[in-house]
Amino acid sequence: MPSIFANALAQLESAARQMKLPKEILAVLHQPQREVTAALPVTMDDGSQKIFSAYRVQYSNARGPYKGGIRFHPQVTLDEVRALAFWMAVKCAVAGIPFGGGKGGVMVDPKKLSAGELERLSRGYLRAFADVIGPERDVPAPDVGTNAQIMDWISDEYARVTGHAQPAVITGKSLDRGGSRGRETATGRGGFFILQQLAERLKLKPEKTRLIVQGFGNVGMHFTRLACRDGYRLIGIADSRASILAAPDRSLDYAVIANAKQDYGTVDPCRCTATKGKICRCPDHRHLTPDKLLTTDCDVLVLAALENQITKANAGKVKARIILELANGPTAPEADVILDRRHVTVVPDVIANAGGVVVSYFEWQQNRENVSWTESQIKQQLQPVMEKAFQEAWELSRQQRINLRAAAFQLALTRIAQSIQKKTA
Ligand code: NDP
Repeated sequence: MPSIFANALAQLESAARQMKLPKEILAVLHQPQREVTAALPVTMDDGSQKIFSAYRVQYSNARGPYKGGIRFHPQVTLDEVRALAFWMAVKCAVAGIPFGGGKGGVMVDPKKLSAGELERLSRGYLRAFADVIGPERDVPAPDVGTNAQIMDWISDEYARVTGHAQPAVITGKSLDRGGSRGRETATGRGGFFILQQLAERLKLKPEKTRLIVQGFGNVGMHFTRLACRDGYRLIGIADSRASILAAPDRSLDYAVIANAKQDYGTVDPCRCTATKGKICRCPDHRHLTPDKLLTTDCDVLVLAALENQITKANAGKVKARIILELANGPTAPEADVILDRRHVTVVPDVIANAGGVVVSYFEWQQNRENVSWTESQIKQQLQPVMEKAFQEAWELSRQQRINLRAAAFQLALTRIAQSIQKKTA
């Protein structure tokens, strides 16, 4: 497995070279400010004890409290958490919100734990990191494998440890525990606002624009729902269990896919897996291997699942003219170079999936002011933030003839550098 943090550093160094970032600033940003690791003992339902490795990486607080999700996944590594924490610092700066970057993780498969075990693990996580977390210090949130219920347990445990409730310690909570309306849909919605911005600039007509979406979890599902509602043509979709492609000149029906996911846990509406030798006879779609779907002809390839999906091995075969990165780090740096050469427009993760952290910021503000905004207030405030981030990166990329990722990094690094210089002046 390539180092994801090495990918992140390659992006940092490339942007630093292009913009002539002062070397002292580059040196500061070359590693996290702080990394904390812990071994979390959890009593399992059968009375035995298991130890889980846990991390919190605080990359930069130059622009405000560290901010970033907690990932529960069996393959979480410190290297990955570092990279994700760095990208959070960049993302918050591009979006212009007053947060730094952080991230957490626990090496665990949450699907294999009972609710009780998951609660004990989540509370244990907070106790292990309570000294470094806080509303003005480091504000975690959900990520892959964690959800509002887990955020509620962590918020509650923080109140127990500190002796008073401070909901602003964590975002992505459930509504009745101080969560924000619109947080659940925020990342997918933000990505959809970006698609609209692209459509305007590249003169895309929704009914003629074919989308392939990899990932149908929180982010992929809400994005796909909004895009299909706006008339975009969904021609391919994948989750961890199936990759399906609409028959030529047909589109997939969002409602059919969403119902299949809800009823059977997979986007495959016929539930037949071509790989197991059964032949799918459905007239409207066929099954592909996961990698084949990524290189199938379409207009916009939406990556909403995992890191490192487009690599130097498949970048040359991508047929989409646009890649929208809703996942974090789905394109490896070597792949970026190949895509650039082939004039594929890549909207980087640090812009495309910023909707989640922007609404997290709104939740933090609401908690601090003890108010609750309506869903339409959230949507109205999210849209201009996403549009401004995209517009600034788009204009810089046109002015300097650089790609959107380089432009986003330059904007972010300029802002982070100014804050570092102010603090050290
Ligand atoms: P979820 O866990 O809700 O969804 C992940 C989706 O990816 C699932 O549909 C999963 O399949 C699918 N998937 C996993 N492995 C594969 C694979 N090999 N091929 C195809 N699909 C696969 O996560 P989120 O939607 O929350 O997050 C997705 C990405 O977006 C992550 O990179 C995350 O860091 C990033 N992100 C999320 C934010 C948020 O607000 N949630 C904010 C910013 C970024 P299955 O359904 O079968 O498990």
